[in-house]
Amino acid sequence: MPRLVMKFGGTSVATLDRIRRAAKRVGVEVAKGYEVIVIVSAMSGKTNELVGWVRETSPLFDAREYDAVVSSGENVTAGLMALTLQEMDIPARSWQGWQVPVKTTSAHSSARIEAIPSDNLDAKFAEGMKVAVVAGFQGISPEGRITTLGRGGSDTTAVAFAAAFEAERCDIYTDVDGVYTTDPRISSKARKLDRIAFEEMLELASLGAKVLQTRSVELAMRYRVRLRVLSSFGEMSDEAGTLVCDEEDIVESNVISGVAYSRDEAKMTLTAVADQPGIAAAIFGPLADAGVNVDMIVQNISEEGRTDMTFSCPVDQVLRAEKAMNAAKDRGELDFHELIADENTCKVSVVGIGMRSHAGVASQMFKALSDEGINIKVITTSEIKISVLIDRKYMELAVQALHDVFGLEKAA
Ligand code: ADP
Ligand code: ASP
Ligand code: MG
Repeated sequence: MPRLVMKFGGTSVATLDRIRRAAKRVGVEVAKGYEVIVIVSAMSGKTNELVGWVRETSPLFDAREYDAVVSSGENVTAGLMALTLQEMDIPARSWQGWQVPVKTTSAHSSARIEAIPSDNLDAKFAEGMKVAVVAGFQGISPEGRITTLGRGGSDTTAVAFAAAFEAERCDIYTDVDGVYTTDPRISSKARKLDRIAFEEMLELASLGAKVLQTRSVELAMRYRVRLRVLSSFGEMSDEAGTLVCDEEDIVESNVISGVAYSRDEAKMTLTAVADQPGIAAAIFGPLADAGVNVDMIVQNISEEGRTDMTFSCPVDQVLRAEKAMNAAKDRGELDFHELIADENTCKVSVVGIGMRSHAGVASQMFKALSDEGINIKVITTSEIKISVLIDRKYMELAVQALHDVFGLEKAA
């Protein structure tokens, strides 16, 4: 029988009523003759609440216990979804990650899926089960401990199952009807894209567009999963939503296809560090060991053998970063004058494969920001993206200005 993966995000399972609506969609696919693997998120707001409880209990928490707590939201919705399907006379059962098992690395709170043996689910499908409801976002480490895949991880669970079970398609049901040129919550001019290239979606996701988790796009690209994003509230049709596909399958596109933002960034500056070989390793080694996700890095020109080193990281990792740097200083491995944390920054990026063949995107971007009086603190670029770090209070303004200047409101 052909198989389908259907993933329902937090807003799509936020209430019992919404779970019923989602289950009806599953029923439609079952009636068409599919065996369905349903991946569910926790009810919307639940994971944030659980993360809040962990942080309140233990600011520098043990990540293994963090995973034990924050994975629990998905267990509830998986069971409720299976019960709802059973009430509709559809043979279904729920599976927690460890039961499948979804085998992951032991990098707690950001584990990667390593394998999903298909035997257990296959055996149940062979017995007549029509729907396997799997709790998204979670797995089990080689040590036998519960892991989670990082925020938004249910998307990755979904794509990984689609690959492992050779599903015909992986449908990601969410609260918007597809991938837009920018977050429709930030700009009313955002335009839905019918198709987007894997590479662009990968950049947008990694630069903050949380409609898909980055890793899910990577997996879809690698395992050639037919990945679609669509609304769980709209019409059911084969053309609905946005298809994430190969570059070759897109006929025309703008130079820039999207604007992404990441709201909660911090800019950290170590002043007066010795400008000598090994200094970058002495800084970024301990940061990596402490689990700090460093993003942008800038080293200033040096004066009298001393320089300032600036990096950005998520705002909720500032405490970890400070602790790691002060510990390195106390151990005598690193010498600096001060560590200045600016916790009021955000990152705004433009993405487009058209940048490969068009010069002048950067200057257009910088001019648009300067016309709005927005100061750029750090810049990074790659082949198909440009990112800037700016004051958080200008985030919406910057996104809208860039959306306008690159004409994203209209299709190419
Ligand atoms: P779910 O709970 O279904 O996983 P998420 O909140 O994780 O949903 O992702 C959907 C949200 O992503 C949308 O509500 C939207 O605000 C946001 N978003 C950010 N950038 C984009 C974009 N370019 N296109 C569509 N949605 C986007
Ligand atoms: N519930 C998890 C989160 O909020 C995973 C997910 O929804 O994708 O991050
Ligand atoms: Mg999500």
